[in-house]
Amino acid sequence: MGFWSPLGRRLAVLLLMAPAWLITPALAADQPLVIYSARKYQLVEQLFAEYGKLRGIELKFVTDDGAPLIQRLRAEGRNSPADLLVTVDAGDLWRATEAGLLAPVRSEALETAIPAHLRDPQGRWFGLAVRARTIAYSTERVRPQDLSSYAALGDPRWKGKLCLRSGKHVYNQSLVAVMIAERGEEETERLVQSWVANLATEPFSSDTLLLNAIAAGQCDVGIVNSYYLGRLQSDKPEIPVQLFWADQQAGGTHVNISGAGVTTHARNRAEAIRFLEWLASPAVQARFAGANFEYPVNPAVEPVPVVAAWGAFQQKLVPVGKVGELQPAAVRLMDRAGWR
Ligand code: FE
Repeated sequence: MGFWSPLGRRLAVLLLMAPAWLITPALAADQPLVIYSARKYQLVEQLFAEYGKLRGIELKFVTDDGAPLIQRLRAEGRNSPADLLVTVDAGDLWRATEAGLLAPVRSEALETAIPAHLRDPQGRWFGLAVRARTIAYSTERVRPQDLSSYAALGDPRWKGKLCLRSGKHVYNQSLVAVMIAERGEEETERLVQSWVANLATEPFSSDTLLLNAIAAGQCDVGIVNSYYLGRLQSDKPEIPVQLFWADQQAGGTHVNISGAGVTTHARNRAEAIRFLEWLASPAVQARFAGANFEYPVNPAVEPVPVVAAWGAFQQKLVPVGKVGELQPAAVRLMDRAGWR
């Protein structure tokens, strides 16, 4: 059948309407796309496999925490097989950028899909899903009108009623880094001290343990990433814990991203960019964020129902890259303030 036969024409029209990644065949089908991912295996496995099938390429991925993956990239240098680094913290992306491990990318598709404060101005990394780190409270013992800001959790009324995750965790270090950006080190240190003074118990090793402690009555309030409650609620809708959007009267709730950047020594750079564009496209965004009860980076894409039920909130518009820059200061401050 000639290309210009009626069916061929119809096919040509269909192909013209299809997104670019569907119609351009992979040039080096034998060249795998190699991804170092701090995003958990169960959350990415299905989408990664789907992309590989769509493009007729092999996707290889290594999952670990952000810090060891960055260390590995650094040690491997130009011999690294990795094309893409995926992290679950903006600070990690910033650190990888500082170490020269990520290369600038210009992509109209990515720049259109992702708001400016959720990507690097030079295109070295792009947010792919947004998570809020906000206040969780017991619906049995706390009224939402008793809550307002992160700082107010240091009020004496919460003495012995506050739960925190470990200060060693990057999520809390990023939160404190943003506080330093907003109010300086001195005020932030006093604030962190006031939280430590209100602790009900030793800091937890995970947000999920913290949420279960609130549900069990061990404490009344805490600070968690939104998706951890999403996971619990999807399992147990009646769990007596709810989210409160902190700092709505003070610049907005702290958000962080799960995001990715193309490596400096990528062997399959074109495919890595194409994969990012695919992940940022509306249909895939809904599933990438939805799989972990996160917010799509693309504001035009709806979150899943469990997440949408928490209602709209104002995000703090501190450029997320700022987080990485101030993390070392945050770590020292938290140590001084006794946040173990
Ligand atoms: Fe997490």
